[in-house]
Amino acid sequence: MTRILRANSIYAFSRDNRPAIRARPPAELIFETQDCFGGQVTPSSPALGTVDWGHINPATGPVYVEGAKPGDVLAVRVQSIEVAGLGLMAAMRGEGVLAGQVRATEVKFVPVARGRAKFNDRVELPVKPMIGVIGVAPAGEPVPCGTPGSHGGNMDTRIIGPGATVLFPVAVDGALLAMGDVHAVMGDGEVMGTGVEVAAEISVRVGLRRDLADLELRNPLIVTDSVLAAVASAKTLDAAVKAATRGLAGILMKRAKLSLNDAGMLCSAAGTVAVSQVVDPLKTARFEFPLNVLRDLGVVI
Ligand code: CA
Ligand code: ZN
Repeated sequence: MTRILRANSIYAFSRDNRPAIRARPPAELIFETQDCFGGQVTPSSPALGTVDWGHINPATGPVYVEGAKPGDVLAVRVQSIEVAGLGLMAAMRGEGVLAGQVRATEVKFVPVARGRAKFNDRVELPVKPMIGVIGVAPAGEPVPCGTPGSHGGNMDTRIIGPGATVLFPVAVDGALLAMGDVHAVMGDGEVMGTGVEVAAEISVRVGLRRDLADLELRNPLIVTDSVLAAVASAKTLDAAVKAATRGLAGILMKRAKLSLNDAGMLCSAAGTVAVSQVVDPLKTARFEFPLNVLRDLGVVI
C-alpha cells in the first residue's frame, strides 16, 4: 500500500502539476485528504471570514500512473473511506439554492462517530462516505479543484463511495490522478453547497482498462453494485442531463448494438436521471442504468 500524504495538495487539475508519486498499475493506494476548507475552519477558529479562499478544495496528489496514455481509460475502484471524527457544514450568504434567503453565514460542526453524523441533538444521520473531488488532468487549461468537468474534478456525486469504480478518459501521460473533498454524508444536489465535509483516508485500487478504449469516453463513468452511471457537467442542469443521457445511450449503441431509437427508449424505460450537484460553477447530472438490464443485453463494463 502506498500512501499519498495530505501535504501533497493541488488546487487545480493541471498537466503541469508535479506528480506526488508514480505508481505502476494495478496499484493499491491510500490518499490522505483534507476537508474542503483545507482544515482552516475548526472549533477554535470557526469564522469563515478568515478563510484563505485561494486554498480551499484541495485535492491530494497527483499520482502519475505509469503507462497511462491519452485515449486510455483509468479505473479507480474505491475500496474504503475512513472519515475523521469531526465534520462541518456551512450556510453561506450567496451560496446554494437558498442563497437569497440566508441572512447570516453560519458554520456547523458535525461530530462523526460509530457510523453516525450528529447533526444536532435530535437528528443523527447514517454515515455514507463519498468523494466530492476526484479526477485526472485535462489536456487543456488547468481546471480549479472546485469546478467539475470531463476530467472529473468537483463532481460532488453521491454514488462515488466504497465499492464504486470511477472510469476516467485519460487526457495526459500518466493521467495525474488526484482526489479530496470527502463528505461523511451528502444528499443529491448538495443544495446548500456543502455536505458533511471531513478529512479522510481513501483506499483505492487503480488500474488501466484498455478494453474500454473503444467507448471513446468524453466524461467519467461510475460503476456501482447496481448501476452504470454516465456523469456530465455543464453550465445548466438541462445541458448536463442531456450530455449524461447521451453518454449512456452511446454505450448501449456501441456495446449492445442498439439503434439510437432503441437505446433512447430503453433509457427512457429503465434508466434514471439523477442530480449530482447544483451548486458548483458547472452543474453535474448523471444517468443511471441498471446493471442487470445491461447483463441481459450481454454488456459488461
Ligand atoms: Ca465539493
Ligand atoms: Zn465538499
